[in-house]
Amino acid sequence: MKLSEAGLGTIRVNKLDDMYPAQDMLLQSGQLVQYGTGIFGYNNVTMLVKRNIERIIEECLNEAGCIEIQLPTLQPDTIWKKSGRWDTYVNDGTMLVVNSDRGDLCLAPTAEEACIEFMAEKLKSYKHMPATVYQIGEKYRNEIRTRGYLLRGRSFLMMDAYSFDTDLKGLEVSYSKVRNAYINIGKRLGIDLLPVIANNGAMGGKKSEEFMLVSAIGEDTILYDESRKIALNTEVLEKEDYEEYLKEEYEIEDISNLKTTKAIEVGHIFQLGTKYSDSMNIGFVDKDNTQKPYYMGCYGIGVSRLVAAIYENSVIRDEKGTAAGISLPEQIAPYIVQIIPKLDNKQKVKDAEKIYNEFEDKAILDDRENVSMGSKIKDCKILGTPYMIILGDKVEDGMAELENTKTGEKEIIKISQIKEKLVK
Ligand code: ATP
Ligand code: MG
Repeated sequence: MKLSEAGLGTIRVNKLDDMYPAQDMLLQSGQLVQYGTGIFGYNNVTMLVKRNIERIIEECLNEAGCIEIQLPTLQPDTIWKKSGRWDTYVNDGTMLVVNSDRGDLCLAPTAEEACIEFMAEKLKSYKHMPATVYQIGEKYRNEIRTRGYLLRGRSFLMMDAYSFDTDLKGLEVSYSKVRNAYINIGKRLGIDLLPVIANNGAMGGKKSEEFMLVSAIGEDTILYDESRKIALNTEVLEKEDYEEYLKEEYEIEDISNLKTTKAIEVGHIFQLGTKYSDSMNIGFVDKDNTQKPYYMGCYGIGVSRLVAAIYENSVIRDEKGTAAGISLPEQIAPYIVQIIPKLDNKQKVKDAEKIYNEFEDKAILDDRENVSMGSKIKDCKILGTPYMIILGDKVEDGMAELENTKTGEKEIIKISQIKEKLVK
């Protein structure tokens, strides 16, 4: 991307939000645009970060044998009335309802109902299972509290997966398959995604775990034993039979050594059992020729919430601890290098073009006229590019200053060696 063509102008960033400095930088620099409470447009860099996260999620789920599909986001009230959740979601204010002269519809807050309808066409016999499908699509919830920008949107991107089995044993296998995929997703994203025991009550199933990122800006409170890697949502302790739940489902008897911490819920996985299959009266024909309900699991990841969490995790701070920029992890950064040549020096401009072409679509060239070198250096850190290449008068021709924006480490390096060094 050439910044002269990116409609950027001069970026001006004023005093930042203490809680969410990264997203405030994105808003002030136009990388995010807010249309209303919880509704955002993405500019090029943030959109590509989101897409890179999607790709990693897709790859990990595909490796685990899950099949990608796409369900409609505009859904008729009929399927929701079948499960009985239309009234629940309308009454608690979550559902965004669309009234039309051809019936009532909603913008999907989640997709269990749509997915069962979809799969019932295919999974008519026990022979057709197990099956796990997923989609990555926009979801809509008329959240009352929208805090933290993308962390809690009214329109947000979610990966939602659904597993179908003939019995509980099968469900347990499918559940652990997706659970492992979640652990891989965390590793591939370069973040510490912690499985946290959750309250299974809400969705009415057996077992449920949330995947969380320990963070001071998290809305959830968890109890965490770092040495034993045991974590549980404090909501679990509100369950009457929590001791039994912990022992039976997770083999945990001793929770004396747990410390309280704040965390962000990134994902949530559930063993639903036959709840939806029963309420919607949909199932399959088993070996003994009788009609049986599906044993379902459902699995979500907040993709746009992950975008926010990773950005907030990637803030660069100056010596005083003030947020001074962003340095995105290389795994998800759409652009690896940002090249800043002194524009009135022909040789430097030529060198910059050469590096730019070498990195193909993974480089940003700051060729904006009438913006100072100092401002361009600041802007590189607002856009979150992991490496900055400065081609100024101070360095000899054929050489460049390469800075790791995360660590601040700088070195003078031969231009011909940059690509090789960064690919490593
Ligand atoms: P929360 O407790 O934060 O409201 P939830 O438990 O209602 O979330 P789920 O229904 O489990 O959310 O949805 C799966 C995932 O979708 C969550 O783990 C979260 O990462 C994400 N998510 C849910 N609501 C939002 C939202 N309003 N904005 C962004 N992401 C969301
Ligand atoms: Mg949840």
